Amino acid sequence: MTDRPGSPSHPGVSTLFPPGRRLGVRHEQLREEVRGYLQDQLAQGKYTPHNDAWLSSWDEDFSRGLGARGYLGTTVPKEYGGQGADALDRYVITEELLASGAPVAAHWIADRQIAPSLLRYGTEAQRHRYLPAISRGESYWGIGLSEPDAGSDLAAVRSKAVRVDGGWELTGRKVWTSGAHHAHAFFALARTGPPEGRVRHTGLSQLIVELDQPGVEIRPIRLLTGAHHFNEVVFDRVFIPDDMVLGTVGDGWRQATSELAFERSGPERYLSTLPLLTTLVGELAAGGDSVRDVDAAMIGAITARVWTLRQMSLAVAGALAQGEVPEVAAALVKDLGTRLEGDIVDIARTVARTEPDPSAPTELPRLLAESILHTPGFTLRGGTNEILRGVVARALGMR
Ligand SMILES: Cc1cc2nc3c(=O)[nH]c(=O)nc-3n(C[C@H](O)[C@H](O)[C@H](O)COP(=O)(O)OP(=O)(O)OC[C@H]3O[C@@H](n4cnc5c(N)ncnc54)[C@H](O)[C@@H]3O)c2cc1C
Repeated sequence: MTDRPGSPSHPGVSTLFPPGRRLGVRHEQLREEVRGYLQDQLAQGKYTPHNDAWLSSWDEDFSRGLGARGYLGTTVPKEYGGQGADALDRYVITEELLASGAPVAAHWIADRQIAPSLLRYGTEAQRHRYLPAISRGESYWGIGLSEPDAGSDLAAVRSKAVRVDGGWELTGRKVWTSGAHHAHAFFALARTGPPEGRVRHTGLSQLIVELDQPGVEIRPIRLLTGAHHFNEVVFDRVFIPDDMVLGTVGDGWRQATSELAFERSGPERYLSTLPLLTTLVGELAAGGDSVRDVDAAMIGAITARVWTLRQMSLAVAGALAQGEVPEVAAALVKDLGTRLEGDIVDIARTVARTEPDPSAPTELPRLLAESILHTPGFTLRGGTNEILRGVVARALGMR
């Protein structure tokens, strides 16, 4: 151990989650506006609330509607078609969308991590090509990282791009690619050169792959329920022109891991099952005095945890707003938040006086059933909790 907790250079909690990054009046006005819009959409029957809607409720009309209202591309500068606002504005919008279980999967990945990566690493041509459409809710993206033997050990990717005239020829395959069957493109992490010595993280690059081009095959990987969410994406000598390399050739590892700070830090890492909790509380409240003390105590305790996570998640958003890359704080929030999401489901199963039923006409049994089916993925996607704890342990000087 090189740097013990409590030592001067140890990043204590107050450093990871600095106080004083608060939402202002402007943010609360924005919240009211977004909430009003969502209530109106719900009243018009434009969507049905779902848990985990950010990953599985795909509705392109809804995304375009959000884009038209200026609720996407929030932090994208106006010159690229965005709103030119800050990460806390985006936080408020995403928080309201998640809390209401709105169908946001179509634009989620593009708005969350592709747009900031294009801003950070993309060329002017790439920014102008993609950012306006992302901000309008018309350009949908996946994440091309995982491979059959490269999940947690991402540096083991075997997709390989070889140099050809004017660009690269990409061969290999990705798995667990959420939404690739609907998406327009993703960044593929691929090996473009040999590792330097034994440092496997070198020699990797990010390539922009438009998914409708020759040589790209998208095969469904179905869930046990039969639902099509995941895919295997196979590349067979796909030509990637030089102007579709993202950032610097050989710098893909650093770029991809900085993208993970955006992927791991958002409120979707603790709010995926909030619609279940609020529906449960609503039903209990409608039952009046019949709520058992033991149930009320469980609801109270989990609600307190939701509020704690919110403060931590908000601090991460505040750090992002200041241009920082708070990857350790993001890892902590994701570990704690995804466990909270699962605990909400366990409590709902204990407290609810109903059986889970995916086709029930009423909300609670339906939300309960879909939460149970989605829970196993919470602590895996975006980096497993074991890997996140390794990130935190390293920052604490314990590895
Ligand atoms: C719902 C969902 C959506 C996803 N969407 C995408 C997507 O769109 N794009 C994409 O690229 N990927 C996606 N993934 C894949 C996800 O990123 C991987 O599942 C994850 O990184 C784990 O990799 P793996 O499945 O290969 O498991 P493995 O890496 O094989 O891990 C198996 C188990 O071993 C543990 N383990 C592994 N290494 C260590 C270690 N060093 N120390 C301690 N424990 C360890 C892990 O924590 C885990 O419990 C998605 C996954 C899910 C569940």
